[in-house]
Amino acid sequence: MAKKKESKTEAQKQVDAFFQKTRFTSEELRKIWNLAKSHRIRLGSYRKRFCTACWNPLAGEIRINNGFKTTVCKACGKKNRNTV
Ligand SMILES: [Zn+2]
Repeated sequence: MAKKKESKTEAQKQVDAFFQKTRFTSEELRKIWNLAKSHRIRLGSYRKRFCTACWNPLAGEIRINNGFKTTVCKACGKKNRNTV
């Protein structure tokens, strides 16, 4: 039995609302990530908002280098690299 799926616009709304928040838990983020993935929603610049290793909000030391912005995650130490 297939689960009833929310529409893509509905999912997009949820994703947008989620990233309005400045604080979120890795658990909440995981849910939104799965929602976005299941609807093939591109997170775009939202990806820069969190650490891809530990799923925590990304806050930490920022370095700009060769057109890339590297943010070192406070929680796990991973270097998250994004284009500027
Ligand atoms: Zn991290």
